[in-house]
Amino acid sequence: MTAQAPNSFKMGPDDQGQFGIYGGRFVAETLMPNILELDAAYAAAKKDPEFLSELEYLNKHYTGRPSPLYFAERLTEHLGGAKVYFKRDELNHTGSHKINNCLGQILLAKRMGKTRLIAETGAGQHGVAAATVAARFGYPCLVYMGAKDVHRQSPNVFRMKLLGAEIESVTAGAGTLKDAMNEALRDWVTNVEDTYYLIGTAAGPHPYPELVRDFQSVIGKEAREQIQEMEGRLPDLLIASVGGGSNAIGLFHPFLDDDNVQIVGVEAGGKGLQGDEHCASLTAGRPGVLHGNRTYLLQDAEGQIEEGASISAGLDYPGIGPEHSWLKDTGRCEYVPIMDTEALDAFQLLCRLEGIIPALEPSHALAEVVKRAPQMDKDQIIIMNLCGRGDKDVHTVSEQLGMEI
Ligand SMILES: *Cc1c(COP(=O)(O)O)cnc(C)c1O
Repeated sequence: MTAQAPNSFKMGPDDQGQFGIYGGRFVAETLMPNILELDAAYAAAKKDPEFLSELEYLNKHYTGRPSPLYFAERLTEHLGGAKVYFKRDELNHTGSHKINNCLGQILLAKRMGKTRLIAETGAGQHGVAAATVAARFGYPCLVYMGAKDVHRQSPNVFRMKLLGAEIESVTAGAGTLKDAMNEALRDWVTNVEDTYYLIGTAAGPHPYPELVRDFQSVIGKEAREQIQEMEGRLPDLLIASVGGGSNAIGLFHPFLDDDNVQIVGVEAGGKGLQGDEHCASLTAGRPGVLHGNRTYLLQDAEGQIEEGASISAGLDYPGIGPEHSWLKDTGRCEYVPIMDTEALDAFQLLCRLEGIIPALEPSHALAEVVKRAPQMDKDQIIIMNLCGRGDKDVHTVSEQLGMEI
């Protein structure tokens, strides 16, 4: 599918909350008042210097921003091509980029006078970040999590409990992220008055894809300044892993109108695109509607949503933020799959060469860096979003490598 390129890629979404034919708000009529209230509140907040300065303060003193832009000298030498830089969002409080979004949204919840927080989570990373800001701001927090994930991700379930959150195990459907998100939306409809729904990625009905993108764009804004300071110019290539798409759009968005910056998003290719054990919605999916927006989805011939699977639980979302669907169709960004085995190799390479244990999600981005850097000139520059640390993945990796912890 192709779409016409606009004058600026940074303008969206339009008045309907759409990026081209993607996005929008496909929700039950009963949910519309919540959505409109949120829309109005965010439109005012993003222009309010007080809101923005409180967010900046928390980003700096609570999260530890700006995150460093790090020149990976040994990896660069090993690959023998372009200079590789990492945007180190794995150094953030709670260990990933998720906190950037959660801080923005908790301030929005406070501003709207909401008193109860709900969230969905898959691997539990967003659940932990949501529980963290809930504790910091004194909110009760209910996290919807698929029953299967509750079982698979028990350390994160315990973390959320330590932080004071309550977990609702969702047994509907396959008992994974998609079902947890459905339940959270259902809760929101029935508790309009007091409840704020803190969504975890740049998906869902408008205005979520826009506001999550804006809160995550701190990544790309910082990287843009940092690379100009260090190299005196913009990078040639940006690479980030894509689950729902929030860390990727956060890095990409500030560069979208820089024609000379090539942009690549990396999806989970799992065990390969032939079967159904992958999560490459953009490469192997088709447009459809899920969770309130139109976007590329993994679906079977009848339009039933397929589960998707990969080595990294954080990339297992059968959809993708609508802005990425549009960026794909317009040709501004390219999306490629990386297989489990390639991500696992890249994971080990980074441990040994740079002394950094990455999460399995950015290990997918790294595997693409490993493919591309050697094809590029030595004076070219790649920035990769190292959006999470690997502590959470050591059990998965030890199993894969056949090693006992
Ligand atoms: C949640 C998560 C992802 C996937 O989510 P996006 O919205 O696509 O960023 C990727 N990496 C890490 C470390 C995560 O925790």
